[in-house]
Amino acid sequence: MSVSSVPDCLVVGGGVVGLSLAYELAVHGASVQLIDRRTTGREASWAGAGILPPANLRTAIDPLDRLRALSHQLHREWAVRLLEETGIDNGYRECGGLYLARSAGEVAALHAFAEMLRDIEIDIERLSPAEAAELEPALSEVANGSLKAAYSLPGEAQLRNPDHLQALRLACEGRGVKILVNCEAKQFECSNGRVTAVQTCAGELSAGRYCVTSGAWTQMLLMQLGVSTGIIPIRGQMVMFRCGTPPFRRVLNEGPRYLVPRDDGRVLVGSTEEEVGFDKSTTEQGVGELVDLARQLIPALRDAPIEKSWAGLRPGSFDSFPYIGRVPGLDNAFAAAGHYRSGLHMAPATAVVLRELMFGAKPQVDLTPFRVGRG
Ligand SMILES: Cc1cc2nc3c(=O)[nH]c(=O)nc-3n(C[C@H](O)[C@H](O)[C@H](O)COP(=O)(O)OP(=O)(O)OC[C@H]3O[C@@H](n4cnc5c(N)ncnc54)[C@H](O)[C@@H]3O)c2cc1C
Repeated sequence: MSVSSVPDCLVVGGGVVGLSLAYELAVHGASVQLIDRRTTGREASWAGAGILPPANLRTAIDPLDRLRALSHQLHREWAVRLLEETGIDNGYRECGGLYLARSAGEVAALHAFAEMLRDIEIDIERLSPAEAAELEPALSEVANGSLKAAYSLPGEAQLRNPDHLQALRLACEGRGVKILVNCEAKQFECSNGRVTAVQTCAGELSAGRYCVTSGAWTQMLLMQLGVSTGIIPIRGQMVMFRCGTPPFRRVLNEGPRYLVPRDDGRVLVGSTEEEVGFDKSTTEQGVGELVDLARQLIPALRDAPIEKSWAGLRPGSFDSFPYIGRVPGLDNAFAAAGHYRSGLHMAPATAVVLRELMFGAKPQVDLTPFRVGRG
């Protein structure tokens, strides 16, 4: 869109949200610069599990459901495009999911969740414990013991987020996005209701439009633009086991915890939710709880080595909705952050609706509930 050396858009933050936006903008012909204070795709987006719960765009009515559902559809398309453009398989697999309950409280919550999904016509099937074990023989022991309820969600998918991020970065570069790493945005300059530049540790950068996609760190930047978002870091710890072959095929969910099987036999187990500021360390207790859960559900994990554990900082918001939109009072400043537990899932649709907004089209999802500056 621009022929000058000042890019059409400057994206501040190279997690999955910023990279997806840069990619979407570049696909539509915009010139884009993306900066990251470290390197791209090494924070929450790298730490996450990559679960993509099912969604139905035809029946989704409320904006959050629509954002999720549009993303769900786009993931399938983007996986194909990213493979074509970069040669990287991002690990998108329509593997299905099983939702399990072993306590009375979990059973009640699971039935209510299933009802909600049926209302929006998402394919979900109640299973007896024996049927769950038939689908996933690795669950036989728990099915004969403490398992009280189970549902199958064939529409659940997963992607391998480190590969997805690498593919996004390469695809961005292939489409001319200029990526500057070790470049922290420090201070915005504004004049007459517009951002005119951003001061970074690599000097002053200017663009036609600016978008803050800095994950859990967004609050600090938006405060400079006069907006308080209430985005806070919520730590999530993860553990990865290594097995010779995948001991099960579907994502296994129990309450807020889950086990994700990768094609190569690795199994991810997550995750905790902790308010501990910007501390990304793991704890003995957090890791211990995840290991216990995994070994209770899947006997094969009792002997499997733990390859690694880590933690990431989800960008949480006070009402669990992301912030997607224009920064109030500034014509050319936008933000997309606060996707909490669903940023990997919702990134493609976030990128599409933001690109529409940034270039004057009507976003295909109503962004009112996501407005920046809501309190
Ligand atoms: C343990 C765990 C499990 C998860 N599992 C899932 C899942 O299964 N499915 C799902 O959909 N989501 C999941 N999530 C959530 C998901 O990872 C996040 O919602 C998503 O990654 C947020 O992406 P982001 O781009 O906003 O933030 P980030 O990935 O954190 O990226 C923000 C980027 O901004 C950069 N930055 C910060 N400040 C500045 C600055 N001043 N200047 C320049 N750059 C800056 C950072 O260096 C970083 O690279 C999980 C998260 C965690 C932690």
